Amino acid sequence: MRIETKCIHEGWKPSEGEPRQLPVYQSTTFKYDTSDAMGKLFDLEAEGYFYTRLQNPTNDAVAAKICALEGGVAAMLTSSGQAANFYAIFNICEAGDHFIASSAIYGGTYNLFGVTMKKMGIECTFVDQDLSEEELDKYFRPNTKAVFGETVTNPTCTVLDFDKFSRLAHKHGVPLIIDNTFATPINCRPFEWGADIVTHSTTKYMDGQGVGVGGCIVDSGNFDWSKHADKFPGLTTPDDSYHGITYTERFGKGAYITKATAQLMRDFGSIQSPQNAFYLNLGLETLHVRMERHCENALKVAQFLKSQDKIAWVHYAGLEGDKYYDLAQKYMPNGTCGVLAFAVKGGRQASIKFMDSLKFVSIVTHVADAKTCLLHPASHTHRQLTDEQLVEACVAPDLIRLSVGIENSDDIVEDIKQALANI
Ligand SMILES: *Cc1c(COP(=O)(O)O)cnc(C)c1O
Repeated sequence: MRIETKCIHEGWKPSEGEPRQLPVYQSTTFKYDTSDAMGKLFDLEAEGYFYTRLQNPTNDAVAAKICALEGGVAAMLTSSGQAANFYAIFNICEAGDHFIASSAIYGGTYNLFGVTMKKMGIECTFVDQDLSEEELDKYFRPNTKAVFGETVTNPTCTVLDFDKFSRLAHKHGVPLIIDNTFATPINCRPFEWGADIVTHSTTKYMDGQGVGVGGCIVDSGNFDWSKHADKFPGLTTPDDSYHGITYTERFGKGAYITKATAQLMRDFGSIQSPQNAFYLNLGLETLHVRMERHCENALKVAQFLKSQDKIAWVHYAGLEGDKYYDLAQKYMPNGTCGVLAFAVKGGRQASIKFMDSLKFVSIVTHVADAKTCLLHPASHTHRQLTDEQLVEACVAPDLIRLSVGIENSDDIVEDIKQALANI
């Protein structure tokens, strides 16, 4: 099946007489007739459902669909993108370990890695993702366990050089973990470019309507944990909290996701509700149609902004001449996403006047859904930061993040045009 067909038919595969649509298994528990049958599930000897914190049939069907779209071997849903990124790292890092992340990643992830995980004894070094391979190489340490980046960064709209990052990670015997939220598997499948683990905030394009917060982790099955057994004892030595099983021995290519489920989800419990997974599945069925329109509209808006005197700059990797155009053409020839960044001339005051003059384009914290919206990080999400701190976090003080929706592009352009006329 091609990816558009997978959006519709992967995941829930009803057999004779079963519901055509994915049912919501709104049940915390599952019934068994004998004590022995239940016991085998707890020993991970038999497959089956027993408690929704660990697994639920609705969630599993949706995870299987995302897994198929990314071309992975196993996947799990989480309650949010934050939970997905936390689990993805914490599944292979413990106190005393180190990992490397691009400094251009989403602010919430930046904080999780730089502040909260530091309190757990896990250190993250943030790097400029555009540094040369030689320069980046210097940041690896003997205790480095992973490399993390985003396909297209939120909110700066830069594109990751997968070849460079996967070569570096693999040279040092660690996996490359990619947050593929903005590109979605419709526009980029990081496993085809050497990534080992993919994460998503499904809250964004996958849901697509701004209905439910959620996340997902997908494993390519390509990283050989046993080959670097000394680095990943959590996967390659017995887990005392789970009857002494060794995940790589028992589950092979499924080791990483099984550990994340049996250990992290069991202990932290950031499960996605089956109802939200149901909504997410509805979003996934139209993902391929929507992404095409998001990209088409964003390109038209980017071209319009680029032609305006009142605009200081525009960053959109799909726009010819953009710093990341060539990388985008290589990794995302069909388009990047609907999010772009730009600035109006005249500083904060002009930015505010522009935003307040918009009619249907609205100011919201969200990105990547059907409705065109924008945000000025310096006035909103990052308002506690000084201009110097903003630059450090890779967010220009004048940056406006515009998430182009799937309305008629002429209407979007006209709304922006009349707002620009007001400054
Ligand atoms: C929104 C976002 C997250 C966090 O996801 P939530 O679902 O809001 O927890 C992580 N990464 C990226 C790229 C995002 O845009």
